[in-house]
Amino acid sequence: MFIDVKPILTGAVDVIEFDDTLAPPAPFNGIEFPEPVRVVSRIKNMAGYMTLTASASVPYITRCARCLKEISRVFTHTFTRTLATRLQNGENDDYLLIRDDRVALDEPLLEDLVLNLDFVYLCKEDCKGLCPKCGKDRNEGECGCSDKKEVDPRLAILAKFLDK
Ligand SMILES: [Zn+2]
Ligand SMILES: [Zn+2]
Repeated sequence: MFIDVKPILTGAVDVIEFDDTLAPPAPFNGIEFPEPVRVVSRIKNMAGYMTLTASASVPYITRCARCLKEISRVFTHTFTRTLATRLQNGENDDYLLIRDDRVALDEPLLEDLVLNLDFVYLCKEDCKGLCPKCGKDRNEGECGCSDKKEVDPRLAILAKFLDK
């Protein structure tokens, strides 16, 4: 996705607004993106430099870290950068370079979006998860094994001896 900033560079306009979709990022850390990323961006002339603000939203599918239930939601992310025709001190994450009067948005935006995803998703804040013993989804009710304390089998044998 290239945005032509020539109208600002020549002084014809002060603001460029842009609404488009990007191919979704590759699956990342167990998160899949079934639909394109919607990007609404705005480039503003700040007298001497330009700022870009892009709001990206993308549907995603992942699984609850506790109960493994499928989660399908929309992730929204705001991306802000200063546009520069050349970089003063080499690479800088706060800047996007203007080349041939255009700004390439795809790669930096998708990279930033993926970096801002969470590592753990839960179907709900208080998800009780699966019982580690019987595998029952504890959100659907108690299975009965969770209340009883596990007795160390070695201690159980010892208890038998003491009973005699
Ligand atoms: Zn869950
Ligand atoms: Zn159980």
